[in-house]
Amino acid sequence: MDCVFCKIIGKELPSYVIHEDDDFLAILDINPASVGHTLIISKKHEEDIFALDEITASKALIVAKQVANKLKAALNYDGLNILQNNSPVAGQTVLHFHIHLIPRYINDGIELRPPIGSVDAEELLKLRDEILRGE
Ligand code: 5GP
Ligand code: ZN
Repeated sequence: MDCVFCKIIGKELPSYVIHEDDDFLAILDINPASVGHTLIISKKHEEDIFALDEITASKALIVAKQVANKLKAALNYDGLNILQNNSPVAGQTVLHFHIHLIPRYINDGIELRPPIGSVDAEELLKLRDEILRGE
């Protein structure tokens, strides 16, 4: 399979590993948004959060927290964004499940907030009902 993360896991491609366990590898991003930008990659090739089984998905957040602590101890960052993209329309470029840990530093100038939209109460009510009906 022509997947860059599978090749990294299979050691066909080099990477800078900062955590490894049975289910995940955490590596430094090759094009970091900030110092310490890290990717937590599932060892099993699954495309995204929808493909991942629930146990592995829950373990992913535990690993994210552990690696975030490790980065904090080493880099003493001021804040952290945890980002996880699903599908190209949402910005996913490598179609193999991963979580971004993006350390943040005061005045780092990075803008990761989603745009602020607006909606009225009637629309929210309609939307809630539509979602509940679709369950
Ligand atoms: P996505 O856009 O899919 O959420 O994130 C993919 C990430 O993988 C990007 O931040 C990109 O810089 C990183 N990336 C792509 N190829 C490689 C690689 O070969 N090695 C490493 N360490 N990171 C990579
Ligand atoms: Zn893969």
